[in-house]
Order: sequence, then structure tokens, then C-alpha cells
Amino acid sequence: MLCTEDQIKENIAGILEKMTAAAVRGGRTAGDVRLMAVTKTKPVETIQALARLGMTCFGENYPDEIAEKASAFAALGLQPAMIGHLQSRKAKIVVDHCSALHSLDRFDVAEKLERLCAERDRVLPCFLECNVGDEESKSGWHFADDTLPADFLQDFEKITALPHLRVTGLMTLPPFAEVGETNRVYFARMRRIAAYLNDHMGGQINELSMGTSSDYEVAVEEGATIIRIGTALVGAREYKKN
Ligand SMILES: *Cc1c(COP(=O)(O)O)cnc(C)c1O
Repeated sequence: MLCTEDQIKENIAGILEKMTAAAVRGGRTAGDVRLMAVTKTKPVETIQALARLGMTCFGENYPDEIAEKASAFAALGLQPAMIGHLQSRKAKIVVDHCSALHSLDRFDVAEKLERLCAERDRVLPCFLECNVGDEESKSGWHFADDTLPADFLQDFEKITALPHLRVTGLMTLPPFAEVGETNRVYFARMRRIAAYLNDHMGGQINELSMGTSSDYEVAVEEGATIIRIGTALVGAREYKKN
């Protein structure tokens, strides 16, 4: 399903209104939270419509799709953030075409990115993906509760020592929930993980990338600084069937 530009305009206004109210409920302001447009599977025309409506923050999930859309983003003076699972062999696409990586999920990819960034003399802002729902099917460092696992802390030290990666945030995609409220516990856990890293590990985490169409209001109440919205903004996705 493709939304018209008028529908998208209405969607943006509705999301920003709810986002602002949630920020205020959480003791913050609208300026503390950014709306990211997730445009995976959507055509370039949708990206151009979003840009005309003032959107500057975009997220894409698939490296090959990012490579295909890169010139369209560049023509708008933009680069998307990568928010999907990244295989090492696709790391070059992220380094060449993305503004940031929200889904850094293991050390060996960080090493590969460091090498590629060093060659190009660029610094890549990175978010560590936290699997706060401890789900087998998802990537990222696993958290069973509020304790920080040793493997995560070791990887955090190793990754923050890489000169061409800058760990500015944490990202999560919690279990799908019909009712956003169900995920409050996970969003609150993210805030505590960030606080621990900043207080005890020399971290400089000032971004929490969390909240999608189904739960962004709760995520913002719990401290999200970037919400990643696809469906509520540009309509449901259609995946090609083979
Ligand atoms: C697809 C996707 C989103 C957007 O989800 P919606 O439910 O369509 O808002 C956000 N984050 C990630 C990591 C995604 O893969």
C-alpha cells in the first residue's frame, strides 16, 4: 500500500502530536526526540515526498536496497541510517552511503567497519543493538534482566576503543506487542543500560533509538531520542513473493 503525500502529511502531524505529548509526560520536550522515517521496501517517490514534507532522518534495513537508493538520497542532500542486520560482507555499503549504523550487533562487524572507515578517513556514528527481550531470533547483545553481561561490557570497551567508530547510542527492537505498554519494561531497561555505561564505563551514550509504530509513545515516555516509524508514517509494507 502506498500513501499519498497528503496522507503522509497527516500521518506526520499525528505522530508528532503524540510524540510531543509523550515527551512532555516523560519530563522532556519535543526537541529532545527525533522522528526517523523507515522507508525499507518503499519507492524513491515516497522518500522524495517525505523530504518535501520536511523529513531529514531516514532509516533503511537492507544494504542492497540502500545501494540502489543512494543516489536518490544524495540528490536530496541526505543519507539514511542503517537499522537492519548487517553482514560483514555488506559493511562497505554502510560506510559509503549511511549517516549512522543503528544495528551494530557484534565485535567482528565493528572491526571490519573500523578498517573501512580508516581507509576512507571517516568516523561512523554507531548504536549498539541491545536484545533486551532476550529473543533467540534477534541479533544484538542479549540481556535477560537488568544485569549487564560480561561479554557485552568487554565488547563495549573494545568497540569504544576503535578510533573511527563513535558509539553515540543504543538501539533496540523489543518483542512485537499488540499493546505498546507491554514493552515499557524493555525501554526502561535500555535507559538503565545507557546510564551504567556512562557512569561506570566512560560511555558517551546520548541517544536511545527505540519505539516503532506500535509502541513509540511508551518508548518516548521512557527516554527515546529517536523513534523509528514505518507503517504509521508511510503505510504497511508489501514484500515481494517469489
Ligand atoms: C521495520 C523496522 C522499523 C519500523 O517498524 P514499523 O512497525 O513499520 O514502524 C523500525 N525499526 C526496525 C529495526 C525495523 O526493522
